Amino acid sequence: MPEFQRPRGTRDFGPEEMAKRRFVESNMRETASTFGFGEVMTPTFESTDLFIARSGEDIVNEMYAFEDKGGRNIALRPELTASVMRFYVNEMQSLPKPVKVFYFGNMFRYERPQAGRYREFFQFGAELIGAPSIEADAEVIALAMQSIKSLGMDDAVVRIGHLSILQSLFEDIGVPENQQVACRRLIDKQDYDGLKNLLAEISIDNSETLIQIIKIKGGKDAIAQAQELTSAGEDGFTYLADLLNRLEAYGFSNCTVDFGVARGLDYYTGMVFEIDAPSLGAEKQICGGGAYKLADLFGGQEVNSTGYAFGFDRIMLALENSGVEVPSQKLDAYILPIGDSARTAATEILMKLRNAGISSDMDLMGRNMSKAMKYANNIGSQKVIIIGQKELDEKSVTVRDMESGEQELVPISKILDYNFK
Ligand code: AMP
Repeated sequence: MPEFQRPRGTRDFGPEEMAKRRFVESNMRETASTFGFGEVMTPTFESTDLFIARSGEDIVNEMYAFEDKGGRNIALRPELTASVMRFYVNEMQSLPKPVKVFYFGNMFRYERPQAGRYREFFQFGAELIGAPSIEADAEVIALAMQSIKSLGMDDAVVRIGHLSILQSLFEDIGVPENQQVACRRLIDKQDYDGLKNLLAEISIDNSETLIQIIKIKGGKDAIAQAQELTSAGEDGFTYLADLLNRLEAYGFSNCTVDFGVARGLDYYTGMVFEIDAPSLGAEKQICGGGAYKLADLFGGQEVNSTGYAFGFDRIMLALENSGVEVPSQKLDAYILPIGDSARTAATEILMKLRNAGISSDMDLMGRNMSKAMKYANNIGSQKVIIIGQKELDEKSVTVRDMESGEQELVPISKILDYNFK
């Protein structure tokens, strides 16, 4: 057994996987740019207090938190919304509104690793700050939908809820304010028995309607279905109907509502949404987001914000499961000089190709022809360029197409005219 192992819950990514990840990442960046969002980057670690301010003391148990050599309490970021809002409050408040930003980066959470759940993982997220809420909510959900659409993932399901509906339902049956967060957490975990028990403990036994409503999912008719069961939460229902109409205008008519979307975190205020990739099984949630208020908590002026974070690693898994082709990196040409006399000419051709953007490599191992062919095949090179004495005499190279096996003599002076792509 090797002496050093990766820390639990972390992964190494080889070149082939990295090429795929970078492809998906740049696709998502491009989509965000077409929506007018600009990229931001913040530090990988922040003061622990920032995350405590956002999520409460308990978050410390879920983080990589430590004291640095200067005695400061530091945490590796478990998410990026808090950092972005700190950045906004410190430096972006006076910018014209709305502020539209996106980010990509690694996050750290001290949790029990399993398929699709890691201790170091990646999120691609966006935040829209300072626009009226319904416009911002529609724009942000549309960006999330467009991101997965342009990746070719067509089985993802977006479920949208509104916390004011839950709040009205809580008030309707008399759930005290100090128990509402605990109820939301149970709803978030779909732990309906736990919810019933908690409510029974505080002598609330008329929770049937609440439980019926949080199980409803569907299109516009689901809103009507829920409204038949309760007269509470009218504003929230109207809001969601309006939001679905707006998303339809964006071209996304397949969004659904789900009154059980509660998001575990306390700082969400209105609309909340999640996106699932059904092929992922237990860890199927690929995105979570909603409207929130954090700026004032961080010492800034209160401002509407809506954002989300995609679990990038789960997107990669979902793309693989649904058979979506993600191109991996291919080498255009592999150059094989035969004998030392050919090496200088081979090197010159190598750099000519590289300078022209043709990905190319050259034999560094002194392999003979058959071993070099095997190797070129192994690394997936599209062409092999052979330069021996015969070729040198003719100021040419032999280009072999690895798929068809066809060979062609190409003058060195015309090498860039050859179609390597
Ligand atoms: P959250 O910040 O908890 O709302 O998470 C947003 C998204 O990040 C989730 O929907 C998941 O796709 C992803 N995610 C959260 N935790 C992990 C983890 N430990 N490993 C991999 N992905 C995660």
